[in-house]
Amino acid sequence: MRSKIVAGNWKMNKNLEETNTLLAELVQKMPDTSAEVMVAPTFVNLSAAVQSLAGSRIEVVAQNMHFEESGAFTGEIAPGMLKNIGVNTVILGHSERRAYFGETDGLLKKKVDTALAQGMRIIFCFGEELDDRKSGKHFDLVERQLRNALFHLPTEAWKHIVLAYEPVWAIGTGETASPEQAQEMHAFIRKTLESSYGSDIAQGVTILYGGSVKPGNASEIFSKPDVDGGLIGGAALKADDFIGIINGI
Ligand code: PEP
Repeated sequence: MRSKIVAGNWKMNKNLEETNTLLAELVQKMPDTSAEVMVAPTFVNLSAAVQSLAGSRIEVVAQNMHFEESGAFTGEIAPGMLKNIGVNTVILGHSERRAYFGETDGLLKKKVDTALAQGMRIIFCFGEELDDRKSGKHFDLVERQLRNALFHLPTEAWKHIVLAYEPVWAIGTGETASPEQAQEMHAFIRKTLESSYGSDIAQGVTILYGGSVKPGNASEIFSKPDVDGGLIGGAALKADDFIGIINGI
Protein backbone atom coordinates (compact mmCIF):
# COMPACT_ATOMS: atom_id res chain seq x y z
CA MET A 1 0.00 0.00 0.00
CA ARG A 2 1.57 3.31 -1.11
CA SER A 3 1.66 6.19 1.35
CA LYS A 4 -0.52 9.18 0.57
CA ILE A 5 1.17 12.53 1.09
CA VAL A 6 0.10 16.15 1.13
CA ALA A 7 3.13 18.46 1.23
CA GLY A 8 3.11 22.25 1.35
CA ASN A 9 5.97 24.10 -0.34
CA TRP A 10 6.04 27.55 1.22
CA LYS A 11 8.78 28.82 -1.13
CA MET A 12 10.21 32.23 -0.11
CA ASN A 13 7.20 33.16 2.02
CA LYS A 14 6.49 33.61 5.75
CA ASN A 15 8.85 35.21 8.25
CA LEU A 16 9.44 33.60 11.63
CA GLU A 17 6.37 35.03 13.30
CA GLU A 18 4.15 34.13 10.34
CA THR A 19 5.65 30.66 10.25
CA ASN A 20 4.79 30.04 13.89
CA THR A 21 1.27 31.41 13.44
CA LEU A 22 0.54 29.22 10.41
CA LEU A 23 2.00 26.12 12.05
CA ALA A 24 -0.02 26.65 15.22
CA GLU A 25 -3.19 26.98 13.15
CA LEU A 26 -2.37 23.84 11.17
CA VAL A 27 -1.76 21.83 14.33
CA GLN A 28 -4.99 23.05 15.84
CA LYS A 29 -7.08 22.30 12.74
CA MET A 30 -5.35 19.11 11.53
CA PRO A 31 -7.97 16.54 10.57
CA ASP A 32 -7.73 12.88 11.39
CA THR A 33 -6.16 11.64 8.15
CA SER A 34 -4.16 8.62 7.11
CA ALA A 35 -2.07 10.80 4.77
CA GLU A 36 1.40 11.99 5.68
CA VAL A 37 1.39 15.78 6.00
CA MET A 38 4.54 17.84 5.35
CA VAL A 39 5.44 21.51 5.26
CA ALA A 40 8.53 23.13 3.72
CA PRO A 41 9.22 26.56 5.25
CA THR A 42 12.21 28.63 4.20
CA PHE A 43 15.66 27.51 5.47
CA VAL A 44 16.00 30.11 8.22
CA ASN A 45 12.78 28.94 9.85
CA LEU A 46 13.29 25.18 9.58
CA SER A 47 14.71 24.80 13.06
CA ALA A 48 11.89 26.78 14.66
CA ALA A 49 9.36 24.76 12.67
CA VAL A 50 10.87 21.47 13.82
CA GLN A 51 10.63 22.64 17.40
CA SER A 52 7.09 23.94 17.19
CA LEU A 53 5.88 20.77 15.44
CA ALA A 54 7.55 18.36 17.86
CA GLY A 55 4.96 15.79 18.90
CA SER A 56 2.63 16.74 16.03
CA ARG A 57 2.12 14.57 12.97
CA ILE A 58 3.32 17.24 10.54
CA GLU A 59 6.81 16.67 9.13
CA VAL A 60 9.12 19.57 8.33
CA VAL A 61 10.95 19.21 5.01
CA ALA A 62 13.53 21.34 3.18
CA GLN A 63 13.02 23.02 -0.20
CA ASN A 64 16.54 22.32 -1.48
CA MET A 65 20.09 21.38 -0.46
CA HIS A 66 23.61 21.34 -1.91
CA PHE A 67 25.16 18.20 -3.39
CA GLU A 68 28.29 18.36 -1.25
CA GLU A 69 28.34 17.39 2.40
CA SER A 70 30.45 20.40 3.48
CA GLY A 71 32.97 22.88 2.13
CA ALA A 72 33.52 26.25 0.51
CA PHE A 73 30.09 26.80 -1.02
CA THR A 74 29.03 30.23 0.21
CA GLY A 75 25.31 30.55 0.81
CA GLU A 76 24.56 26.85 0.48
CA ILE A 77 23.07 24.30 2.89
CA ALA A 78 24.46 20.77 3.31
CA PRO A 79 22.19 17.77 3.79
CA GLY A 80 23.95 16.85 7.04
CA MET A 81 22.99 20.26 8.43
CA LEU A 82 19.36 19.54 7.67
CA LYS A 83 19.52 16.14 9.33
CA ASN A 84 21.26 17.70 12.31
CA ILE A 85 18.24 19.94 13.03
CA GLY A 86 15.74 17.12 12.50
CA VAL A 87 14.86 17.58 8.82
CA ASN A 88 14.97 14.21 7.08
CA THR A 89 13.20 14.92 3.80
CA VAL A 90 14.18 17.31 1.00
CA ILE A 91 12.41 18.59 -2.12
CA LEU A 92 14.73 18.38 -5.13
CA GLY A 93 14.30 19.55 -8.72
CA HIS A 94 11.44 21.99 -8.22
CA SER A 95 10.73 23.76 -11.50
CA GLU A 96 11.68 27.12 -9.96
CA ARG A 97 15.10 25.70 -9.06
CA ARG A 98 15.45 24.40 -12.61
CA ALA A 99 14.24 27.62 -14.28
CA TYR A 100 15.77 30.36 -12.08
CA PHE A 101 18.84 28.65 -10.63
CA GLY A 102 19.96 26.58 -13.59
CA GLU A 103 19.48 23.18 -11.98
CA THR A 104 19.99 20.48 -14.59
CA ASP A 105 19.25 16.78 -14.55
CA GLY A 106 22.99 16.16 -14.05
CA LEU A 107 23.16 18.42 -11.00
CA LEU A 108 20.00 16.85 -9.59
CA LYS A 109 21.49 13.41 -10.00
CA LYS A 110 24.35 14.51 -7.73
CA LYS A 111 21.92 15.97 -5.19
CA VAL A 112 19.88 12.77 -5.22
CA ASP A 113 22.99 10.67 -4.54
CA THR A 114 24.13 12.90 -1.68
CA ALA A 115 20.69 13.02 -0.07
CA LEU A 116 20.42 9.23 -0.19
CA ALA A 117 23.95 8.84 1.19
CA GLN A 118 22.82 10.96 4.12
CA GLY A 119 19.77 8.75 4.64
CA MET A 120 17.33 11.40 3.54
CA ARG A 121 14.00 10.93 1.83
CA ILE A 122 13.54 12.86 -1.41
CA ILE A 123 10.51 14.48 -3.01
CA PHE A 124 11.73 14.65 -6.60
CA CYS A 125 9.93 17.20 -8.81
CA PHE A 126 9.77 17.15 -12.60
CA GLY A 127 7.32 18.09 -15.32
CA GLU A 128 6.96 19.58 -18.75
CA GLU A 129 6.60 23.18 -19.93
CA LEU A 130 3.58 24.28 -21.93
CA ASP A 131 5.50 24.14 -25.24
CA ASP A 132 6.45 20.51 -24.58
CA ARG A 133 2.81 19.61 -24.05
CA LYS A 134 1.59 21.60 -27.05
CA SER A 135 4.10 19.86 -29.28
CA GLY A 136 3.27 16.43 -27.84
CA LYS A 137 6.72 15.97 -26.29
CA HIS A 138 5.58 15.87 -22.66
CA PHE A 139 5.89 12.12 -22.17
CA ASP A 140 9.39 12.04 -23.68
CA LEU A 141 10.50 14.99 -21.60
CA VAL A 142 9.20 13.53 -18.34
CA GLU A 143 10.77 10.18 -19.08
CA ARG A 144 14.09 11.88 -19.81
CA GLN A 145 14.00 13.90 -16.57
CA LEU A 146 13.39 10.72 -14.58
CA ARG A 147 15.94 8.59 -16.40
CA ASN A 148 18.68 11.24 -16.23
CA ALA A 149 18.42 11.93 -12.51
CA LEU A 150 17.05 8.74 -10.97
CA PHE A 151 17.37 5.64 -13.10
CA HIS A 152 20.96 4.94 -12.07
CA LEU A 153 19.66 4.16 -8.58
CA PRO A 154 19.59 0.63 -7.22
CA THR A 155 16.20 -0.90 -6.50
CA GLU A 156 16.46 -0.45 -2.73
CA ALA A 157 16.89 3.33 -3.09
CA TRP A 158 13.33 3.72 -4.34
CA LYS A 159 11.81 3.33 -0.89
CA HIS A 160 13.35 6.74 -0.12
CA ILE A 161 11.96 8.47 -3.23
CA VAL A 162 8.63 10.24 -3.65
CA LEU A 163 7.91 11.57 -7.14
CA ALA A 164 6.09 14.85 -7.71
CA TYR A 165 4.81 15.42 -11.23
CA GLU A 166 4.37 19.16 -11.63
CA PRO A 167 3.54 20.43 -15.12
CA VAL A 168 5.29 23.81 -15.18
CA TRP A 169 2.33 25.46 -16.94
CA ALA A 170 0.13 24.64 -13.95
CA ILE A 171 2.42 25.94 -11.18
CA GLY A 172 1.23 29.17 -9.63
CA THR A 173 -0.86 29.93 -12.70
CA GLY A 174 -4.28 28.94 -11.44
CA GLU A 175 -4.42 26.50 -14.35
CA THR A 176 -4.60 22.89 -13.22
CA ALA A 177 -4.00 19.75 -15.21
CA SER A 178 -7.35 18.01 -15.50
CA PRO A 179 -7.68 14.93 -13.30
CA GLU A 180 -7.53 12.90 -16.52
CA GLN A 181 -4.30 14.59 -17.65
CA ALA A 182 -2.77 13.97 -14.23
CA GLN A 183 -3.86 10.34 -14.21
CA GLU A 184 -2.58 9.80 -17.76
CA MET A 185 0.88 11.11 -16.86
CA HIS A 186 1.04 9.30 -13.50
CA ALA A 187 0.14 6.01 -15.20
CA PHE A 188 2.86 6.69 -17.78
CA ILE A 189 5.38 7.35 -14.99
CA ARG A 190 4.49 4.03 -13.34
CA LYS A 191 4.83 2.24 -16.67
CA THR A 192 8.26 3.84 -17.18
CA LEU A 193 9.30 2.76 -13.68
CA GLU A 194 8.03 -0.73 -14.32
CA SER A 195 10.06 -1.08 -17.51
CA SER A 196 13.31 -0.56 -15.59
CA TYR A 197 12.54 -1.68 -12.04
CA GLY A 198 9.58 -4.07 -12.26
CA SER A 199 6.09 -3.90 -10.98
CA ASP A 200 6.72 -3.94 -7.20
CA ILE A 201 8.72 -0.70 -7.38
CA ALA A 202 6.34 0.87 -9.91
CA GLN A 203 3.33 0.13 -7.73
CA GLY A 204 5.09 1.06 -4.49
CA VAL A 205 6.34 4.56 -5.33
CA THR A 206 4.18 7.46 -4.17
CA ILE A 207 3.53 9.90 -7.03
CA LEU A 208 2.21 13.35 -6.11
CA TYR A 209 0.59 15.84 -8.43
CA GLY A 210 1.47 19.55 -8.13
CA GLY A 211 0.08 22.57 -9.93
CA SER A 212 -2.63 24.89 -8.62
CA VAL A 213 -4.25 22.31 -6.36
CA LYS A 214 -6.96 23.98 -4.27
CA PRO A 215 -9.60 22.77 -1.80
CA GLY A 216 -12.13 22.88 -4.65
CA ASN A 217 -10.26 20.56 -7.04
CA ALA A 218 -8.17 18.40 -4.68
CA SER A 219 -10.55 15.51 -4.11
CA GLU A 220 -11.22 14.98 -7.82
CA ILE A 221 -7.51 14.94 -8.65
CA PHE A 222 -6.66 12.73 -5.64
CA SER A 223 -9.43 10.29 -6.57
CA LYS A 224 -7.45 9.14 -9.61
CA PRO A 225 -5.88 5.72 -9.03
CA ASP A 226 -2.27 6.70 -9.72
CA VAL A 227 -2.36 10.07 -7.92
CA ASP A 228 -1.19 9.57 -4.32
CA GLY A 229 -1.49 13.13 -3.05
CA GLY A 230 -0.18 16.57 -3.83
CA LEU A 231 2.65 19.04 -3.61
CA ILE A 232 0.96 22.33 -2.86
CA GLY A 233 2.35 25.84 -3.36
CA GLY A 234 0.10 28.88 -2.99
CA ALA A 235 -2.73 27.10 -1.23
CA ALA A 236 -0.34 25.81 1.45
CA LEU A 237 0.09 29.35 2.77
CA LYS A 238 -3.40 29.53 4.25
CA ALA A 239 -4.32 27.05 6.96
CA ASP A 240 -7.93 26.61 5.88
CA ASP A 241 -6.97 25.99 2.24
CA PHE A 242 -4.24 23.50 3.15
CA ILE A 243 -6.57 21.68 5.54
CA GLY A 244 -9.26 21.68 2.85
CA ILE A 245 -6.80 19.98 0.48
CA ILE A 246 -5.81 17.40 3.12
CA ASN A 247 -9.49 16.66 3.54
CA GLY A 248 -9.63 15.88 -0.17
CA ILE A 249 -7.33 12.89 0.11
C1 PEP B 1 4.58 24.22 -6.46
O1 PEP B 1 5.24 25.25 -6.47
O2 PEP B 1 5.12 23.12 -6.23
C2 PEP B 1 3.16 24.32 -6.72
C3 PEP B 1 2.50 23.22 -7.01
O3 PEP B 1 2.62 25.58 -6.67
P1 PEP B 1 1.07 25.97 -6.84
O4 PEP B 1 0.28 24.99 -5.99
O5 PEP B 1 0.97 27.37 -6.31
O6 PEP B 1 0.74 25.84 -8.27
